Amino acid sequence: MAKYDIIVVGMGIMGGAATYQAARRGLKVLGLEQFDQIGHTMGSSHGETRVIRQAYYEHPDYVPLVQDAWNEWKELERLTRQSLLVQTGGLMMGLPSSEVVRGAIAAAVAHQLPYEIWDAAHVMRRFPAFHVTAEEVAVWEPMAGYIKAEASLLAMVSFATSRGATIHTGENVLAMTSQSPNEVEITTNKDRYSAGAVILTVGPWATRWFPAWPLAVERQVPFWFDGPRLRAMTQYPIYIHENRQGQHTYGFPYIDGQGLKIARHHGGKITTIDTVQRKVVQDDKAALESTLDFLPDVLTSSVCREEVCLYTNSPDSHFIIGRHPQYHGHVIVGAGFSGHGFKFAPTIGRLLLDLAQNLHAAELPLFSPLRNAIQLH
Ligand SMILES: Cc1cc2nc3c(=O)[nH]c(=O)nc-3n(C[C@H](O)[C@H](O)[C@H](O)COP(=O)(O)OP(=O)(O)OC[C@H]3O[C@@H](n4cnc5c(N)ncnc54)[C@H](O)[C@@H]3O)c2cc1C
Repeated sequence: MAKYDIIVVGMGIMGGAATYQAARRGLKVLGLEQFDQIGHTMGSSHGETRVIRQAYYEHPDYVPLVQDAWNEWKELERLTRQSLLVQTGGLMMGLPSSEVVRGAIAAAVAHQLPYEIWDAAHVMRRFPAFHVTAEEVAVWEPMAGYIKAEASLLAMVSFATSRGATIHTGENVLAMTSQSPNEVEITTNKDRYSAGAVILTVGPWATRWFPAWPLAVERQVPFWFDGPRLRAMTQYPIYIHENRQGQHTYGFPYIDGQGLKIARHHGGKITTIDTVQRKVVQDDKAALESTLDFLPDVLTSSVCREEVCLYTNSPDSHFIIGRHPQYHGHVIVGAGFSGHGFKFAPTIGRLLLDLAQNLHAAELPLFSPLRNAIQLH
């Protein structure tokens, strides 16, 4: 049976990042992916682009993590000689009392981040495609942009293999056991392996592994639009708009060769990994369009691409990063990224690895599997 220092199960962005960090540390690492392709479209890490922003409205504790991740993305760019993070600035739009506006300001103030508050007239002068009402405002932050999604995953995995990592695709992990306190054994559809520690980053498939955990799979449908007016939006920032119903819609600048990607954040159907409707239907477009008063040019443009992607939500929308309560503490889980994990991936890969390498390393309380909302005893 082949033996490794670390086995990473699942090669989405989180597993890719853990494998990349393990290879940087010179560890003997095996990455296992059930599908034949790294960068497939069945999970959560596909779709060209992901938002990165620092004035983190969800919770100020994410700010140091995203600042760390920003540096990690830059390091990945340097190591792989690729452009992966595009800084565009970011605009959080809504009523002054909205979650995105209040939360972004709170995070910026708590961590002394550069930001500006713009009134509606200023927003529309700077970015005329946005139609915000007189009562709405926007928080502008320069340290925001987007990450190239599949390109980043492939960059991490190819860097890892160049440093000696082994990656097997088309190999489904069926079982894990830990007979001795120093080892975990993995059985796949093809072989058996052992490792000092296993990092389990299986995205929405975590619900299959751990049916009792409080995780919910949510179906999301980003759309890409094209049209003459949208082509004037190549220099736009990334943006999130919160409407009066509290619905969040986010988007990107127009990117040549891709179009303008825009989607709702949450509000999708709660489903399961086995029964999810993989086909995009008319209702998906209608649901998005109902939130687009702030960007009416999209309503007169045509769809050039559409995709189903999955969130795996934890009860409090914070990540689950920590030791599985079984397996003698040698299985480390990264799950429940709740639709906002990608931007942190290289940092999360490092945190997972720290836990895997050091049985005494502490979990971050915000992400602990033992916190009140989760309680995986
Ligand atoms: C539409 C959409 C938009 C998003 N936008 C943003 C954004 O703008 N910014 C942001 O920060 N985040 C965003 N996110 C969230 C982010 O993309 C996810 O948090 C992240 O991709 C989760 O990655 P993952 O590796 O945990 O899961 P996945 O990408 O699903 O990877 C899990 C992998 O495990 C493999 N696997 C599962 N079971 C097994 C097994 N038994 N054996 C072997 N392999 C297995 C799967 O095949 C898969 O490749 C978005 C998500 C979606 C869906």
